[in-house]
Amino acid sequence: MATDADDLKFRDPETAQEIAADIEEQMARIGQPVEIMHVCGSHEQVIAKFGLRSMLPSELTITMGPGCPVCVTNMPEVDEAVALAEAGKTVATYGDMFEVPGTTKSLADAAAEGADVEVVYSASDAVELAEDNPDEDVIFFATGFETTAAPTAAVLQADPPENFYVLSAHKYVPPAMEVVAEMPATSVDGFLAAGHAATITGYGLFEDFVSEYDLPVVVGGFEPIDVLFGIRKLLSFIENDEDGLANAYPRCVSREGNEAAMDAIDDVFELTAGEWRGIADIPDANFELSEEYADHAARQQFDIGVVDGDADPLTEECICGDIMAGTASPDGCDLFGEECTPTNPVGACMVSDEGTCKIWHEYGGRPDL
Ligand code: SF4
Repeated sequence: MATDADDLKFRDPETAQEIAADIEEQMARIGQPVEIMHVCGSHEQVIAKFGLRSMLPSELTITMGPGCPVCVTNMPEVDEAVALAEAGKTVATYGDMFEVPGTTKSLADAAAEGADVEVVYSASDAVELAEDNPDEDVIFFATGFETTAAPTAAVLQADPPENFYVLSAHKYVPPAMEVVAEMPATSVDGFLAAGHAATITGYGLFEDFVSEYDLPVVVGGFEPIDVLFGIRKLLSFIENDEDGLANAYPRCVSREGNEAAMDAIDDVFELTAGEWRGIADIPDANFELSEEYADHAARQQFDIGVVDGDADPLTEECICGDIMAGTASPDGCDLFGEECTPTNPVGACMVSDEGTCKIWHEYGGRPDL
């Protein structure tokens, strides 16, 4: 093996070729197809942008799992945000959520019809919006995994103004990995876990998962060499039939993670069951505000009357859920690049920069990735 995680030059082509050669040898020794799932849109971005799949043996499949927070935000959650906007509230949300289709419309559609929808870059920006507009109810439609749940928790702990509310669609990744690992249609041999989420949770979080599911997990960073290094480490576990756990992102991730951030999350949120768009109803995978923060919980403070309506018939053909479960690829969708494009998205996977369909569309799809 040519390099050690601490000595990586993160975009060095020579190092990449050396690791790819190691991977080829590992695959030859393993002698059968291997599937590795990563759980992060940022991993898919780097894999596509740098054409990493083209460097790997064809028997090695790298799939993306439920790692796009925008994509797994459930349609009824978008409907709630739209209903609040249409009821005259100011809805603040991250830019990626703006065009995600709900059942009948997106927040962008609501804004086009006159609703007040503001794009913010952080939870703090949403608080500032509430401070600047004391006569408005400002609803922060809060999405994302642990990395964005932590700042949402922090602003709630910091005594925000009374007119600031959170509509939480935050999600917790580990239970979703368990559901994917148990799906009969998946054949995952190991997980490349998201480094940024692990900066919050710590990589020790995966110890129980590894022993319960007999699947190796490697926490990986977001440069090409990080990803290749993580894949090589996973293959060494698979080759030796080990259900190992490794941290291939030591410059950011520790075993314990960010304990202050986790304390804030534990204080502000409780985990509840909830639907991940197109995947499954997953126990303990949704962050809902705890009773102590009920005064700022949009679902408790407002009667959110979601208007019924029929979804666009094309959404019936969207296989975004299967893609996020790792059982399909964008090129398996008949709408990919035709009826569904980034400027006219049918499903959430074509909206977000972390959505597999949008990434594949941007970088040319198979076989160019
Ligand atoms: Fe859904 Fe569009 Fe992706 Fe097809 S291409 S799975 S319709 S998001």
